[in-house]
Amino acid sequence: MKAIRVHEFGGPEVLRHEDAPEPAAGSGQLIVSIRAAGVNPVETYIRSGNYARVPTLPYTPGTDGAGVVASVGKGVTRFAPGDRVYLAGSLTGTYAAQALCEERSVFALPARASFAQGAAMHIPYATAFRALFHRAHARGGETALIHGASGGVGVAAVQLARAAGLQVAGTAGSDRGRQLVAAERAHLALDHNSPGHFNEALAFTAGRGFDVIVEMLANVNLGRDLPILAPGGRVVVVGSRGNVEMTPRDAMMRDGSILAMSLWNASPEDLFSIHSALAAGLESGALRPVIGQEIPLSEAPRAHAAVMAAGAYGKVVLVP
Ligand code: NAP
Repeated sequence: MKAIRVHEFGGPEVLRHEDAPEPAAGSGQLIVSIRAAGVNPVETYIRSGNYARVPTLPYTPGTDGAGVVASVGKGVTRFAPGDRVYLAGSLTGTYAAQALCEERSVFALPARASFAQGAAMHIPYATAFRALFHRAHARGGETALIHGASGGVGVAAVQLARAAGLQVAGTAGSDRGRQLVAAERAHLALDHNSPGHFNEALAFTAGRGFDVIVEMLANVNLGRDLPILAPGGRVVVVGSRGNVEMTPRDAMMRDGSILAMSLWNASPEDLFSIHSALAAGLESGALRPVIGQEIPLSEAPRAHAAVMAAGAYGKVVLVP
């Protein structure tokens, strides 16, 4: 089968489109024919070799994907060959024609969702869900700022927060991104490249501040997020690409909490629970992943450049 293989860490050019052996399903495992694979920023960090998790070389990148069950191993009860599914991780990597998966990492893909949308579910939606509900304990009636709402996690966070009855402001760096944030029904779309956007955000809460801030670029924003927290407000750091200066007293004055998360820390039980909720949202239509770019698997280097470019618009996916 064709797959992307990485033999050395480095820039996007180390993503090589090659022949790789087809996986075989053991007990409790499935083989899924991948129709779309989600591309996430973390896969570029891992590929560069400068990330906390360094895989053994060579490896096939990717944890997110969707496709059709090709075969099942002994003891698999929830799926049969031909089922449409999406993946919350795989054992062999999803940038490939086929992936080997544990049954518990596989979820039904409703007919209304495309394979590309299924490939947008795991890291983006599970991260947004965990940030909002497991970490920040967001509740209906609260206010939320999604700081970086135009990308994969941001669109998911806007949809989840809206569905849960929060008042939502979201930011993007481009006009097109802000149009997307508004189209996903954020109550307010702001420009995170404008220095005045913190004041505009605060005005949206009538000066009270936000109960919840989901932060995609903490090294840039955290210091200015704290003064726009409501009393008892919670910032969840989802993304950060460097260091930041902040004034702890800004959090103290508000009994504020600075929380952080990594989806890697979610237990299998947490992930199963999160995806059970997400799959229900996909089925009902409450969750509608937005696909900005579909790129052939053989052009994976271009996909890695695209996911790190400014002007995010939903998800980048690879199509084998
Ligand atoms: P993405 O699709 O590339 O989106 C990146 C988002 O960040 C876009 O909305 C982008 O907006 C926005 N952004 C750029 N500059 C910003 C600024 N100054 N202030 C606020 N937002 C800004 O990436 P993603 O998949 O949504 O992931 C977002 C971040 O979370 C990444 O750093 C990723 O590594 C991290 N992440 C962490 C976890 C975890 O477990 N902790 C899980 C998933 C993702 P424009 O392009 O419109 O400027």
